[in-house]
Parts: sequence; structure tokens; C-alpha cells
Amino acid sequence: MLIRNFVNIVFIVAGIVMITAISFNKLSVWSLIVLVFCWVLITTYGVLNIKAEYFLKSLNNNPNIKEKKVAITFDDGPDLNTLKILEVLDKYKVKGTFFCIGKQIETHPDIAKEIIKRNHVIGNHTHTHDKFIDIYSTNRFINEIEDADIAIQKISKKKPLLFRPPYGITNPNIARAVKKTGHTVIGWNKRSFDTTIPSEKVILKRITNNLKNGDVILLHDTKLITLSVLEQLLLFLQSNNYTTVTIDELFSIQAYA
Ligand SMILES: [Zn+2]
Repeated sequence: MLIRNFVNIVFIVAGIVMITAISFNKLSVWSLIVLVFCWVLITTYGVLNIKAEYFLKSLNNNPNIKEKKVAITFDDGPDLNTLKILEVLDKYKVKGTFFCIGKQIETHPDIAKEIIKRNHVIGNHTHTHDKFIDIYSTNRFINEIEDADIAIQKISKKKPLLFRPPYGITNPNIARAVKKTGHTVIGWNKRSFDTTIPSEKVILKRITNNLKNGDVILLHDTKLITLSVLEQLLLFLQSNNYTTVTIDELFSIQAYA
């Protein structure tokens, strides 16, 4: 059972009990307001944290991995900066997983082809990554996923099966959309915040602190700062005998249909 369903059942039962008690003047109406507030807090946490798997099942890390293996993922490309990221990955003979935006693929088809040519994996990260995408209807979100699939298929000739929701936000509409398109939802458990934190040292520490086998690292190939963070991260992984694998290998799943 999804956590959302369990939480909703508990709150509905608690709500009915409270309304009954209030109608018999046994309880203040404020108790009900506090209950609703708690439900809003829990639901908001579920929306914002993909790792909570509140609305849908997602693969965020693989704790069953015995070997020192991690996966590095790059969101929001392809971008001109992606080429430099690819050079760094080549230098350390490492393969990554790129969650690409359909429109970005249309803008930079040659860079997207380069990702494929160098044997990295491409996943779906919606077509527009619009800042209001998380309030889209189910049908509009399905279009977002399908349009990005078409853009990826044009350059790779393969249908992607991996999908990462923008901002890691999930909700009932996204859950329904993904159920319809049949993609495997990929989250992360090591969020670098490379799009917001200005210090390379802090970003690197966020990733390497308590790094474990099977961890999934989130970076963005669109950011300049990520280039130097990546190089330092790969040096860290190398000196600590970690192997970097793609998402499909980490979870033993198919990246393409
Ligand atoms: Zn994104």
C-alpha cells in the first residue's frame, strides 16, 4: 500500500471521530483544524520528497548492492556544458545517466547524439520542464513524457524507459501519468544542490559524506560548477575504489524498450 493511501485512511478515520466528538461538545473545533494542518504538512512533505515514495514507487538507491558501486545522474541537459561533462567522464572512463529534457534535445541534437555515441544512458525528464509542470493535469503530463520520448527516440532510435520527475516533485497526477506511460521512476538519495550552492567544497561534501554502495547521485550537466565538482568526485570515487555505473546497471533494469 502506498504511504499516501495509509495516511489518508488514518486521517479520515481520525476526522470522523473528531467531528462526532465535536458534535457532542466533547472536543474543540481547533482539534480538527490541527488535524487538517498535520495532513497538509505530511502531504507537502510527500510532494517535495521523491525518496518518501508517497505517491508512487521510485528507485532512489540500491541498498542491496554488495560491491562499491554508485550511479551518477545528470539532469536538465543536453546543454553546451554537457560536452565538457562528457570529456571529464571520458577522462575517468566513467559512464553516466542523463535525464534529458525533450526541448533541449531538439535545441542540441548533436550533443544528445554524443551522449548516446559515448555509451551513456539517456532517460526522460519531460519535454519542457516548465516551472508550473507540477500543477499540470494528468493528460498534459502524459504529453510531456510522450513528447520527450519522441525527441529521445529521434536521436537514439530507442524508446527510453527511465523517467525522472522535474524537481523530484510527485503528486497524484504525475503518479497517474507515469502509470499510463509505463516508465520506471528514478529518484536519488544524494542530492548535490549543484544548482543552488555556490561552493564546490560544500557540494562535494554533500555527496561524499556517508556515501554508500548503491547510492544515486544527482548532478546537473547544465551547470559550470558541476564540471569541477565532477572531476573531484571522480577522483574521490577512484581513490576509494568505487565503480560508477549507469542506472540500469545499478538496479538491473532495462533503460530502453
Ligand atoms: Zn530537472
